[in-house]
Amino acid sequence: MSETLTETGDATTAAPAGPADGAAQYVDSLVDRWDDLIDWDQRRTGERGFFSELLHGCGARSVLDVAAGTGYHSVTLALSGFTVTAADGSAAMLERTRRNAARHGVELPTVHADWRGLPGRLAGGHDAVVCLGSSFPHLFDLADRRAVLREFHRLLPPGGVLVLDHRNFDAIRARRYRSSGNYYYCGDAVRVSVAHADAETCRFRYSFADGVTHHLEVYPLLRDEARELLTEAGFDTVQTFGDFSTDFDPYEADFIIHAARKA
Ligand code: SAM
Repeated sequence: MSETLTETGDATTAAPAGPADGAAQYVDSLVDRWDDLIDWDQRRTGERGFFSELLHGCGARSVLDVAAGTGYHSVTLALSGFTVTAADGSAAMLERTRRNAARHGVELPTVHADWRGLPGRLAGGHDAVVCLGSSFPHLFDLADRRAVLREFHRLLPPGGVLVLDHRNFDAIRARRYRSSGNYYYCGDAVRVSVAHADAETCRFRYSFADGVTHHLEVYPLLRDEARELLTEAGFDTVQTFGDFSTDFDPYEADFIIHAARKA
């Protein structure tokens, strides 16, 4: 797989060289900066307990966070009373989860696992699977997206819920991208912009205040495309939110969130 994430002072708007493997894009120098990028306190303020409320409302008590990153949701949900297992395909990210969990006095098991190799790697038995922070669009291949959602569905018991989100690629692909900075990527010391977007690839540029720039490439998953994939994977109902509200402007919301229930 190609390594297209760069650390450089000069940004480029050239078309990406090609899809990069999701977890492998998280080089140490970006992992080191991830918590500056998301800013846990401001992110919590923006979310206003949305995920905790949603999961409680679904009757969930135990949660498998399959894209833990540095552990923001794993730790936040554990502090809200959920039993959480944190998984991620990046060993460096998971190490951050462990450190952040310890810092918050939270104990949680961690599993280093790529979603594409999940069968057998992760035990079921969780009431909910969460895949947050626009992580799912790291899958470029349609067959992977289908297989991974089927696996998330299989991991859940009847009545279980998958909560999966992504950036508003409908707006990005319509050239109407704007980031309010209120959700997800809340850090003051970084500017997020779209360096390139077409139907196959979206390349984000993260410009940090000290002049360092990182790029991250993802598949620009559309809202209805995600809903169809979730239904196709076997989920019985899919409720969609924009910036944590069911009432949202499809081109103004920063992030789209789906809550998919297994009957
Ligand atoms: N959920 C965290 C957050 O919101 O801060 C991290 C989001 S980060 C954008 C995406 C995460 O998904 C990374 O930690 C990356 O390692 C993980 N990831 C991407 N592709 C993956 C895959 N195929 N299997 C497992 N993890 C993957």
